[in-house]
Amino acid sequence: MSLRPRFSADYRTIAWVLTMPLVVAAAYARPDLLPWLSPVSFYLALAAGVIAHNHNHCPTFANKRVNGVFANTLSVFYGYPTFAWIPTHNLNHHKLVNREGDATITWRYTNRNDALVATTYFFVSSYWQSDPIKAYLRKARASNPRLFRQIVTQYVVWAGSQFGMLGVAWALHGARRGTVVWLFSMGLPAFFSLWTIMLFNYFQHVHCDPWSAHDHSRNFTSKLTNFLLFNNGLHTAHHESAGAHWSTLPALHAKLERDISPSLNLRSFWGYVVRQYLLAPLFPSLGTRQIGRAPFDPPPGGAPPLADVDDHGAIEALAL
Ligand SMILES: [Zn+2]
Repeated sequence: MSLRPRFSADYRTIAWVLTMPLVVAAAYARPDLLPWLSPVSFYLALAAGVIAHNHNHCPTFANKRVNGVFANTLSVFYGYPTFAWIPTHNLNHHKLVNREGDATITWRYTNRNDALVATTYFFVSSYWQSDPIKAYLRKARASNPRLFRQIVTQYVVWAGSQFGMLGVAWALHGARRGTVVWLFSMGLPAFFSLWTIMLFNYFQHVHCDPWSAHDHSRNFTSKLTNFLLFNNGLHTAHHESAGAHWSTLPALHAKLERDISPSLNLRSFWGYVVRQYLLAPLFPSLGTRQIGRAPFDPPPGGAPPLADVDDHGAIEALAL
């Protein structure tokens, strides 16, 4: 059983995942350091979400059992069993890319792009994702007991670890202080990760043109952002080669860059946030506008074919 990752770039992924429990352990041992350690836990939880996304598209290890253990570890820090990416993301979002039928559409009640819609997107999107998750669970239960067992294990590991660690915090520091230690090292970072990962999906698709060959996604090209988030900013290339390893996205993006509307290739993530959600309400010309065709406005004569949805992880997991 080899513990080597399929791509050498994933030694960094593994290093990040190994750091996650260490930071929690440090916070449990030294609650006085919580103000310094907690921001690291928030970042690492977000990284766990990004890594879970990458892992579901393109498994980190060759060995299936190792991939399963890795997915379980990520579930604990990411805040939800990672199998849920398969029905809502790989098999739904990637096939429909913000068109009608995508559970995670950015235009559910309005096509506005403002702070209210962005910050509440997590709740709307989670609500609509519950149906595909339940349907996938039913299908797994009926026709793939092995997959169903893996999913149940993920739920047990995820909930058991989160609540187990709350118990450990109480045992070490008493109910009041223990709850604070758990909240700021595990509970809130996990919630933040779920909320932010969904917000990224909103940023990456709102006001884009899902009928276009290359203008279906917004990119953030900053080197630092892409280092910290494992190239998650390069979303057009990701949609067009969903099974490609994250480390190959900069090269794929470089090939595509000229064919993408310049307004969808932004350098700075924070520049976009400040301009769109703080300045555009005062100076509307600074805000985004719907590019090309809106998602709810299919072109006459039928929809053009979608980007490549070839996807290793989903195909593997779909063996229902
Ligand atoms: Zn994806």
